Amino acid sequence: MLDANLKTQLKGYLERLTLPVELVASLDDSPKSAELKELLQEIASLSDKVTFAEADEDMRKPSFAIVRPGTDISVRFAGIPMGHEFTSLVLALLQVGGHPSKEAQDTIERVKGLDGDYTFETYFSLSCQNCPDVVQALNLMSVLNPRIRHTAIDGALFQDEVEKRGVMAVPSIFLNSLPFGQGRMSLEQILAKLDTGAGERAAEEIAAKKPYDVLVVGGGPAGAAAAIYAARKGIRTGIAAERFGGQVLDTMGIENFISVSHTEGPKMAAELAAHVKDYEVDVMDLQTATRLIPAATPGGLATVELQNGATLKAKTIVLSPGARWRQMNVPGEAEYRNKGVAYCPHCDGPLFKGKRVAVIGGGNSGVEAAIDLAGLVSHVTLIEFDGQLRADAVLQARLRSLPNATVIV
Ligand SMILES: Cc1cc2nc3c(=O)[nH]c(=O)nc-3n(C[C@H](O)[C@H](O)[C@H](O)COP(=O)(O)OP(=O)(O)OC[C@H]3O[C@@H](n4cnc5c(N)ncnc54)[C@H](O)[C@@H]3O)c2cc1C
Repeated sequence: MLDANLKTQLKGYLERLTLPVELVASLDDSPKSAELKELLQEIASLSDKVTFAEADEDMRKPSFAIVRPGTDISVRFAGIPMGHEFTSLVLALLQVGGHPSKEAQDTIERVKGLDGDYTFETYFSLSCQNCPDVVQALNLMSVLNPRIRHTAIDGALFQDEVEKRGVMAVPSIFLNSLPFGQGRMSLEQILAKLDTGAGERAAEEIAAKKPYDVLVVGGGPAGAAAAIYAARKGIRTGIAAERFGGQVLDTMGIENFISVSHTEGPKMAAELAAHVKDYEVDVMDLQTATRLIPAATPGGLATVELQNGATLKAKTIVLSPGARWRQMNVPGEAEYRNKGVAYCPHCDGPLFKGKRVAVIGGGNSGVEAAIDLAGLVSHVTLIEFDGQLRADAVLQARLRSLPNATVIV
């Protein structure tokens, strides 16, 4: 299953293992089980620290656990983690095998200190760009704290389960069998949701902060740029952001950032964070601003209220809250979000395999989505509120040539 190049790379990574790792597979007679067995045996052949075994220990087949023998530490995948999840597989092998994570030490200590039994299940698709972050965060948490268990499940392979649980968008996270989260989540975000005391501690810390010269609300490219420019003047600068990195985190290929021919969203977001950290900018991530109160008198301090109740004051406030998915504002849209209403054809498309779907919007994004989906689903209807599509002619022609696509304007 692995080509020569991938094998060489993986062999190099596996040299970093300091502890033995066992791959324990639960298989049946299906072709997918045979594929997984081949993959795991190939991985085991690349390092004398990795062994392969079969055991009928999990109801999901094919699945496998990456186990640190003699301990409770293990990470489980149901399905074959190739595609975007191959990195998650490699990281899980390394971390179970004793290779340290690059997460901040205080985050690691907070995960280790979580007092409770948490069984997580994450549904992913192999084409989902947002899934690896969630899978990798939960895998690492389960390596750091054996009371946290995690199974990453390829939704396209376990469709009955996906339908029974009403999963229609990935990543979808369940904790102790109940819905926990949907969409990209960082380890910090997951931790903040579990460690409820952390929110109160953060609110107390924020409430004690002195006023800023410039406070930036929003941590996307615009907010990061504003903060860097302010800090370079030597003035007291802070950033409060719901999700540092912004929309850049939701994409992979970026090819129009002039002077950088190709980069990937998460890489660019990490570079934005590193660039901001080069300056004395007080970054307050995972903080949502709920209200802006202008200064009472000219030259006075304006106030930003946060969702956790804390307030921040500054002489100048820069608002750079970016953009969100556009809504149609039709009945049912909010109630069915991620239960049939989806925003990422690449991520969630595989969950609609064989079904009839509608795509709203006849611009380039909508038409590209409809073309991609037509290869997966039984039928696509593209709906455009205007009298004509606005997508490039070549895309429109491609869409209209497909036998299982209909356009309604
Ligand atoms: C899938 C996808 C692919 C893309 N591909 C490209 C591309 O290839 N090339 C390109 O040029 N552009 C691309 N874009 C667009 C690009 O990402 C945006 O134009 C850019 O991120 C906008 O930057 P921004 O800082 O203004 O806002 P955003 O990136 O939206 O950041 C907004 C920030 O504000 C925060 N925020 C929002 N509300 C609050 C609040 N109430 N309190 C606190 N914080 C808040 C958010 O958490 C975030 O940190 C893409 C976007 C997407 C979604």
